[in-house]
Amino acid sequence: EREEPSHFGAGPAQLPTCVLQQAAKDLVNYKNLGLGIGEISHRSKDATQVIEDGKRHLRELMDIPDTHEVFFMQGGGTTGFSSLGTNLLRGYVGKTGRVGTCGYLVTGSWSEKAFEEAQRLRLPAEVVFDSREFDTEKKFGSIPEESQWSARVQGKKYAYVYLCENETVHGVEWPQLPRCLVEDDDVELVADLSSDILSREIDVSQYGVIMAGAQKNIGLAGLTVYIIKKSILKNIAAADEEILNELGIPVTPIAFDYPTVVKNNSAYNTIPIFTLHVMDLVFQHLLKKGGLPQQTIENKQKAKLLYEALDAYPEFYRLPVAKNCRSSMNVVFTLVDSSLDDQFLKDAAAQRLTGLKGHRSVGGFRASLYNALTVATVERLVQFVKAFAEEHK
Ligand code: PMP
Repeated sequence: EREEPSHFGAGPAQLPTCVLQQAAKDLVNYKNLGLGIGEISHRSKDATQVIEDGKRHLRELMDIPDTHEVFFMQGGGTTGFSSLGTNLLRGYVGKTGRVGTCGYLVTGSWSEKAFEEAQRLRLPAEVVFDSREFDTEKKFGSIPEESQWSARVQGKKYAYVYLCENETVHGVEWPQLPRCLVEDDDVELVADLSSDILSREIDVSQYGVIMAGAQKNIGLAGLTVYIIKKSILKNIAAADEEILNELGIPVTPIAFDYPTVVKNNSAYNTIPIFTLHVMDLVFQHLLKKGGLPQQTIENKQKAKLLYEALDAYPEFYRLPVAKNCRSSMNVVFTLVDSSLDDQFLKDAAAQRLTGLKGHRSVGGFRASLYNALTVATVERLVQFVKAFAEEHK
C-alpha cells in the first residue's frame, strides 16, 4: 500500500501502483507455483510465456508491422549505444559488401553520448549535424529545419543515421522524423526512444531500428527493448566474415549480437524474467486503459497544462527550448531568480511533488510527465507552479 506518488523524476520513473502490487505478489509466488517469477528458469514454459506475452502486447500497443521483429536485451540505453554500431555496420556489409559510415544527428547529450560511444569503439562514425551549430546561443535547445542539413546525407554511404527522438536532459523532442531519412530506402533510421516510447502513437514502419531503455514508460531499469526491421537482421546474419575482417568491422560481443538474441527468443543468456514480467504488466495496463490513442490524448493534455502555466509567467520562469521542439515528456525550465531554487524544491516537496531537480549538467528544473503520471497529478504541479510564481514575483 502507498499514497499515490507525484514523482516527476526523469527515470527510473514512477510506475502504476496496481502493476507494482501485482508484481510484488508474483515475486513471491507466481501463478501458485510455490516459486517467485524471478526464481524459475529463463527457458521454462512460464518464462517463455512471459517473453511471448511481452512481445505480443508490445506489437498490439504499437501496431508493429510484420516487417519488424521485437526482442529484449539486458542493459539499458547505454548498451544500445554500444551494440547498435557493430550490428548495423555488419548489416550494411551483408547488404552491400561495402563499409558504410555511421551518421549521428546530435541534438542533446544523449545523442552526443551515442556518437561518442561509436567513436570510442573505433567505428567509422561522424556527426551529420550538431544542433548547437545552428543555435543562436550555441546551446542544445532547438532542432534545425531539415532544409538546413538534408544535403549532408544525400548521396552519402551511411550504414545508418541515428537520432534520439526525445532528449531527456535538454527537453528537446523531434517534432517529426526527418523526411529525407524516412523517404530514403537506402539509409536505415536508428532511433533512441528511451524517454518517449509508448507516449504516443507512431508509425513503426518508418524506423529501421527502435531502441529504448525500460525505466521510464516501460517498466523497471535493466532491460532494453528493440524493434528492428527483419531485413536488417537477415543482412547482419548474411555478412561474410572474411569481408568483415578485411574491412576491419569489429565483432559484436555475443550477448549483444542481435541475430543471436533473436534466434534464442531473447533468452540466449539469462534474461531477467521478473523485469520482463513487470514490463508486460505495464503493457497490459496500458492496453486496458485504451492503448496509445489514450496515452496520446493524456500526454498532450499534461504537457499543454504545464507549458501554459510556465509560459504565463515569463518574468518568473524561463523555458530554454524552442517552442516547436519542446518535449512532451521532459519539461525543462529555470527560475529567472535562481536564488529561489532551493525554496522552489522545498515548497514542492512539502506538497509531495518530488523529482523536480534538473539534470546536474544543466541545472534548473525538469518535470518528467511519463505515462504513469495522471492528468490530475500534473494539475497539482500546475497549481503549485502558479502559486509559487504569484507568491514570489
Ligand atoms: N537515452 C536516453 C534518451 C536516456 O534518457 C537515457 C537515460 N536516461 C539513456 C539513453 C541511457 O540509458 P541508461 O541509463 O539505461 O544506460
